[in-house]
Amino acid sequence: MNAKETPQNVPVSIDTKRCKACDICASVCPAGVLAMAYDSTSTLGSKVSIISEETCIGCCDCELACPDFAISIASKHEFNFSKLTEEAKQKARILKDNNFRIKD
Ligand code: SF4
Ligand code: SF4
Repeated sequence: MNAKETPQNVPVSIDTKRCKACDICASVCPAGVLAMAYDSTSTLGSKVSIISEETCIGCCDCELACPDFAISIASKHEFNFSKLTEEAKQKARILKDNNFRIKD
């Protein structure tokens, strides 16, 4: 799979081989979809994780912001994305307050 191919029926996919765990994608996501999870094998001690796939609105902000071209967002023609709900915004706020880390 190259960086721009997205598996079917999946809104967001991440090429973990390209990801360096910088957390930029999690910081720009308005819907609380992406977060950093503890990973002792990673150089930075964490890895990006898709924690709320169902709230992805397909805005592509993460894809555009990733410096390593590690994220692919499904085409709006092929995936029925969510609307940006208050619940999703709240998820994003909670993650921001925890430096985009998944709470233990
Ligand atoms: S912005 Fe890209 S490199 Fe940084 S954590 Fe997200 S997927 Fe990984
Ligand atoms: S496309 Fe938008 S809502 Fe979906 S994970 Fe990326 S930044 Fe978040």
